[in-house]
Amino acid sequence: MIGYDTTLFDNRDDKYLIHTALAENRVILTRDTQLMRRRVITIGELKAVFIRNDNPLQQIQQVIDELGLDSVFKPFSLCLECNRPLVKASKEDIKDRVPPYVYQTQTQYVECPHCRRIYWQGTHWQAMLKKLQDISK
Ligand SMILES: [Zn+2]
Repeated sequence: MIGYDTTLFDNRDDKYLIHTALAENRVILTRDTQLMRRRVITIGELKAVFIRNDNPLQQIQQVIDELGLDSVFKPFSLCLECNRPLVKASKEDIKDRVPPYVYQTQTQYVECPHCRRIYWQGTHWQAMLKKLQDISK
C-alpha cells in the first residue's frame, strides 16, 4: 500500500520462506515466535520484524518505525493483489470496466498490467492516504 515491494507467504514451510527471503534480500514480517528463534534471524543474517499488534494501522506503524521506512514513499504505486507496478490508464481504456458512477466522477486511473485490476483515487484511496500521512507525523 505504501509502495514497498512485498510478497506474501501463505506457504508454511519455514525453510522455503527463509531461503527465498535471503535470495531476494527481503525482510520477514511475522507473528511467528518460532520463526523469530531461527538462528539465521537471531544472528542477524536475515532481518525479521516480529509484528506485535493486531491492528493493521499499528502494524504498518511498527514496520515503518523499525525499518525506518517512509509512510508516503510511493502510495498505491503497486498492485495490492500481485505487487506489480501500476501503470496509468486512460478513461477510454477503463470505460466498460468500472462502475458507471466511478467513470462519471473519477478522472485518473491506474491499472495492473498483470491482473488488470483498475484503481482510482476514490474516497477509500483518499481515506487510506490520510491515515498513512497521519502515521508519518
Ligand atoms: Zn495485479
